[in-house]
Amino acid sequence: MVHIKRLELSNFKSFGGTTQIPLLPEFTVVSGPNGSGKSNILDALLFGLGLASSKGMRAERLPDLVNHTQATRGRTVEASVTVTFDLEGLEEGDRGLGNEEQETEVKQEHPILEELSVTRKLRVTQQGTYTSTYYINGEACTLTELHEQLSRLRIYPEGYNVVLQGDVTGIISMNSRERREIIDELAGVAAFDRKITQAKET
Ligand code: ATP
Ligand code: MG
Repeated sequence: MVHIKRLELSNFKSFGGTTQIPLLPEFTVVSGPNGSGKSNILDALLFGLGLASSKGMRAERLPDLVNHTQATRGRTVEASVTVTFDLEGLEEGDRGLGNEEQETEVKQEHPILEELSVTRKLRVTQQGTYTSTYYINGEACTLTELHEQLSRLRIYPEGYNVVLQGDVTGIISMNSRERREIIDELAGVAAFDRKITQAKET
């Protein structure tokens, strides 16, 4: 099974500067006082996986994710998160880069990967405009490419791999239709539904 080996955060929420967080293969506990940034680590993980909704990361707007101390200095600031996955437990055929069609070609070009890293950078200018950029193993890519690469590893930023405070209570109080949507998401059906909607729009 794939596991997250390491998170690297720069200027993300309460983490000014750069912090590396190692995650052990079986069980990792993060403890600390209230407000010390434990949940911000999970927000960083979702950010790095390309989650679009700032609300999902407990922020009103995406620029709020940049460390406030850095942001008040009145210049362009950049928050960045890198998520590194350990691929060693995966079948070799699943460890290449690229999409299904390119697979044979890519396998010849790239050695079998031991780890995969995805990076998202959020640049916020003095005027408050912002852009996100994405990278797979340090090479720039689009958000769609990032999502495609992650979905080959069966990792989805909205996929309930991360259970946040309040999620369980939220699921209990949902109606049956809403609960069905979760099952669709977990079973991977929702991703196809989104592609169908997208294709109809374009
Ligand atoms: P609890 O035990 O209460 O769940 P926690 O350790 O999970 O606490 P977090 O929610 O991760 O705490 O962190 C909240 C802190 O992060 C708050 O003090 C808040 O001020 C700080 N914070 C959030 N966004 C930013 C930001 N952009 N810049 C600096 N600090 C921030
Ligand atoms: Mg918390």
